[in-house]
Parts: sequence; C-alpha cells; structure tokens
Amino acid sequence: MVQNTNMTFQDLHLHRNILQVLEEEKYITPTPIQQQAIPVILEEHDLVGCAQTGTGKTAAFGLPLLQLINTEKNTIQVIILAPTRELGQQIHANLNLYASYNPEISVIGLFGGTTIKSQLEVLKRTVHMIVATPGRLLDLIDRKSIDVSTTSYLVLDEADEMVVALHAEVENIFKEVPKTSRILMFTATMPGRIKQLVQNY
Ligand code: AMP
Repeated sequence: MVQNTNMTFQDLHLHRNILQVLEEEKYITPTPIQQQAIPVILEEHDLVGCAQTGTGKTAAFGLPLLQLINTEKNTIQVIILAPTRELGQQIHANLNLYASYNPEISVIGLFGGTTIKSQLEVLKRTVHMIVATPGRLLDLIDRKSIDVSTTSYLVLDEADEMVVALHAEVENIFKEVPKTSRILMFTATMPGRIKQLVQNY
C-alpha cells in the first residue's frame, strides 16, 4: 500500500473532536491502511484489510467506529475480537485514548485471566464497544451475561492468527451477532480459512 503524504486526517471526514485527539498525539499523516480503511468504514461497508501489526490498524478501524457509535443508545454496538489477551489489552488502551474526546463512550475489555465476577460487574453499566478474546466472550454469552444482539460491527483483528487457534469460537460468535452486522477483518495473510469466512459471511 502506498502512503499519500499530502493526505491529512481532515481529508478523511473525521469529527473535529477526534482530530483534536490526533493532534495531541502528534498523528500528522494517516498511514496507508488508515487512508484506505477509514472512508470505507465511515460509509458502513464490510472490509477485509491486509495489514501487519504496527501499521496503525487500531486507529484505522477504531477512529471511524468511535465516530459511528450512537451514545443515545445504551447498547453494545461494536465487538472487536483479538487472538490474545495481550493484543486485546493493547487495542483497549488505544481505543480508550482515541475515545477520550467523549466521556459518554464506554469501551471495555473482556479477556481470559481476569475474574468473571469483575467482568459481570462491568457489564451492568452502559457499554458501547467491547474488545474481547473469543473464548471469554463466548463464556459470557453462554452464561447469558451479555447481550450481543444489538451488535452493528464485528471486527476481527489478526484474523489469520485467530482462525488457526480459535476457529470454532469465532464461528460461534458469528452465529450470535445479527446477520446485518458489518464485518471488518484485518489479517496479515490470506489462508483458506479466512477466504472461507469471507465467503460465508
Ligand atoms: P497499531 O498498528 O495500531 O498497533 O499502531 C502502531 C503504533 O503507531 C501505535 O503506537 C500508534 O499509536 C501509532 N500510530 C498509529 N497511527 C499513527 C499515525 N497516523 N501517525 C503516527 N503514529 C501512529
């Protein structure tokens, strides 16, 4: 992917308050994945993005999705799946930073290794966006502790890693979210299982 160095975040139709956060963080030029993905996501299309870690993909999906959240609704609108707790925590921290312009937006992380009890407490509050590992999310769905029927966006980060180790879990989560949900997939490689997921959903 080629980077247009003349492009700014303003050209990508992000809200003024998001632009202010980016300015504070000294993000000047959008990375190639951001230049390509942000307009597509804002137009509410599905997307398969080929991008490695370190290319700015968290902001590529995070910024437009934060802009699309409707804070008048107290429902889960975005689910982001990550293959590992470490990656999930990193995404969660970045999204909290990007969302700092609007204290009404609630982003939470649901990962293995943390007690279920503390997560059940968090889920009693308003939640708009979830970052989760597939196993823990399914566990909470099975316990009927989380309602994902209002999901508008399902993001798979490092989708190729995830379908190797967690294929059944990912398939089950696809079955739980509404068929109308937009699917955003980020992957470094295109193995057969990813092509099949793309075809099926
Ligand atoms: P990621 O690939 O999302 O993990 O991002 C890698 C690193 O690049 C993170 O530390 C981000 O804060 C940073 N970053 C993302 N987008 C930009 C940008 N447009 N300009 C400068 N830094 C960025």
